[in-house]
Amino acid sequence: MNELTVYHFMPDKLNLYSDIGNIIALKQRAKWRNIKLNVVDINETEGVTLDECDIFFIGGGSDREQSLATAELSKIKDTLKAAIEDGMPGLTVCGGYQFLGTKYITPDGKELEGLGILDFYTTSQKERLTGDIVIESETFGTIVGFENHGGRTHHDFGTLGHVTHGYGNNDTDKKEGIHYKNLLGTYLHGPILPKNHELTDYLLEKACERKGIPFEPRELDNTEEEAAKRVIVDRVKKSK
Ligand code: GLN
Repeated sequence: MNELTVYHFMPDKLNLYSDIGNIIALKQRAKWRNIKLNVVDINETEGVTLDECDIFFIGGGSDREQSLATAELSKIKDTLKAAIEDGMPGLTVCGGYQFLGTKYITPDGKELEGLGILDFYTTSQKERLTGDIVIESETFGTIVGFENHGGRTHHDFGTLGHVTHGYGNNDTDKKEGIHYKNLLGTYLHGPILPKNHELTDYLLEKACERKGIPFEPRELDNTEEEAAKRVIVDRVKKSK
C-alpha cells in the first residue's frame, strides 16, 4: 500500500474549533484511494527535518498560544520556508496562517514576531470577525467555513478566493486566505477540510505528485459532502 506522511505541527497548542478534523479528513480521503496516511505530531522542533514529510498542517490558536508556537517553530523556519518554496503542500489555519508572516500586532499594540516566511503582516482589533463564511474560488469552487479572529491580514499574494458572505482576510478587501505555490493559508476553521473536499484532495494530489505515487481515483462520490456544504450556503443566503 502506498503511504503519505503528514507532519502536524504544535497540536498541543494549536487546535481551535476542532482543527484536528482536518487530519481526519486527509486520512479518510487518502484511505479511499488506498493510501495509508501516517501522522507525526510535532510539539518540539529541535533537530526536526522535513525529509520524511509529504504534507504539513498547522492549526489555529489564541494570541498567547500562537506566540509560544512561533517561538518553537522559529527554530526550523528556514527548513519550513525551503519546503514551501520547493512546493511542499501545506495547510495553515488562522493563528498558524498569521505567523507565517513577519509580525502580528495585538489589539493593545504589542508586536509579536512572526516566522517571516512570507512577506505580509497582521494587525488585530478587539472587535472580532466571526461567523459562517462562504467563498467563491476559481480553483476550488465554493468554499465554506467558520471564522473567529481579531486579526486583519493584508497581502498581494494569491488568495483562496472572493468572499461572498463573511469577512476572510480582513474587513475591507473581500479576499480570503493565501495560496502560494502549494501552501494554503486560511482563516477558516470549521474544520475546513471535512467541509471542503476539493481542498483536501488538492493537498493529497500535490503530495502524491511530489512523491510519484498514483492519486486514483481522481474523483470520488461527493454527494454527501456537497449536501453538507449546501446546508451552509443555504443558511447563509436565508440570513441575508
Ligand atoms: N490571533 C488570532 C486572532 O486573530 C487567533 C484566532 C484563531 O486562530 N482562531 O484572533
